[in-house]
Parts: sequence; C-alpha cells; structure tokens
Amino acid sequence: MDAGAVDSIADRLRVVMERIRQAALSVGREPDSVRLVAATKAVSVERVREAIAAGLRAAGENRLQEAIPKIQALRDEPIRWHFIGHLQRRKVRDVVGRFDLIHSVDTLELASEIDRRAEAAAIRQDVLLEVNIAGEPTKTGFPPGQLEEQLTYFSGMTHLRVRGLMTIPPPVDNPEQARGYFRTLRELAGGLSGQDVPGVAMTELSMGMSSDYVVAVEEGATFVRVGTAIFGRRDA
Ligand SMILES: *Cc1c(COP(=O)(O)O)cnc(C)c1O
Repeated sequence: MDAGAVDSIADRLRVVMERIRQAALSVGREPDSVRLVAATKAVSVERVREAIAAGLRAAGENRLQEAIPKIQALRDEPIRWHFIGHLQRRKVRDVVGRFDLIHSVDTLELASEIDRRAEAAAIRQDVLLEVNIAGEPTKTGFPPGQLEEQLTYFSGMTHLRVRGLMTIPPPVDNPEQARGYFRTLRELAGGLSGQDVPGVAMTELSMGMSSDYVVAVEEGATFVRVGTAIFGRRDA
C-alpha cells in the first residue's frame, strides 16, 4: 500500500517544508530564501484549503480555466497565486495581474504580449524566463545559448519585471541526475546577472518538483514547485 494515501495533506506538507528547511541549512542557506509553491492542478478547492490551514501560502496553477474558479473560491484565504504552466498568448490578458509571478515565459513574443497587457492594466507583472535546459526538442523554453543575446530586448518592456529563471529538467530516474541541470540554471542566471539589463534581475530560480526539490534547494532554488508530494498522485 502507498503510505502517501494514509497521511493527511497537513502531514505531507509539513514533511515537504521540513525537508526544504533541512536542505537549505545543509548548504548554508537561509531557509526563508526558499519559497514553496504547491502545484495545485487537478487538486480540489477543499484540498487546497486544507493545505492553507496547514500553512501553505503560495499555489501554482497550470491552466487559467482551472485557476479562475479556485482563486475566486479561495479569495478570502491567505494564499498567493503563481502561474506555472505553458501560457498561450490569447490567455495573457486574463493572467496579467491575477498572479504574483508567471514562471513560464518561454518566448520573446509572449513576454511582449504580457508587457502590453500589463501596461494596459497599469501594473508591472513579475515573470521568470523558462529555460529549456537540456535542449529537448519537445519542450518549450528559451535555449540557454540564446538568452544572453535576447535579454537586451527585455529592457524595452517597461511593464514587465524579469526576476529570474525557471526550468523543468528532463525526467530522470534518480534526483541526483537532475543536479547538473539545476546547477547549469544557477550558473546561467549568474552569468546573465552580469549583463545589467534594466528591468531584469536574476535573483530567483524556480526549479525542483516532488521527485527532486531537495537537490534543487541544495543547488540554489528560491522557488520549488511541488504537487504530488503534498496532494498525492493526481490520478488517485
Ligand atoms: C505539475 C507541475 C509541478 C509539480 O509536479 P509534481 O511532480 O507533482 O511535484 C511543477 N511544475 C510544473 C510546471 C507542473 O506542471
């Protein structure tokens, strides 16, 4: 039997938070420098509410249609929302302003549309740039080798604030195999921060999911996006 099936959401959330804390301390990082974003796709409002009662403060949604009713239902709860899924340009208008941070900006065109919509809404939208760290042909994201050149375009996007990078590494059997990808993302951000582009900071790294968030924190993640380890398997 799957032990996860008998533990409560609160128990599992506490385990994840504690492992994040321990991983940060183990490499001399301040535990508060890592923020947990619970991936709540396919998780009901009631289950998200349970996690909030147990101390969850940020949730990430992949699809706007699913997110809107959840955000509405939980509007009086102390929870902040992040957009972590692939974002289509025609959805941008409804995403801008609704989410504290869009983790998944994967093209200049998308960034430009977010900038345009943020300007129309008279806000500045915080975003991360998604990097296709292993150059997988099936995956979206900026190729690591192109970011340096493309970064200058962001200085013209005055209603967009780039806060850092995000990645989803290729699936691996063992979390240790993801370490190199996380390290590469951190080094990429370090190199890019030297460019000093206005409106672009490289302080945030969104990396690590249920199977590998401990390794991601050891390698410098400031956001981890964890679903299954908190809510159980999505098809369960
Ligand atoms: C679902 C999802 C996660 C969390 O995945 P788990 O393996 O369930 O922790 C993280 N990031 C993104 C973009 C996701 O879609």
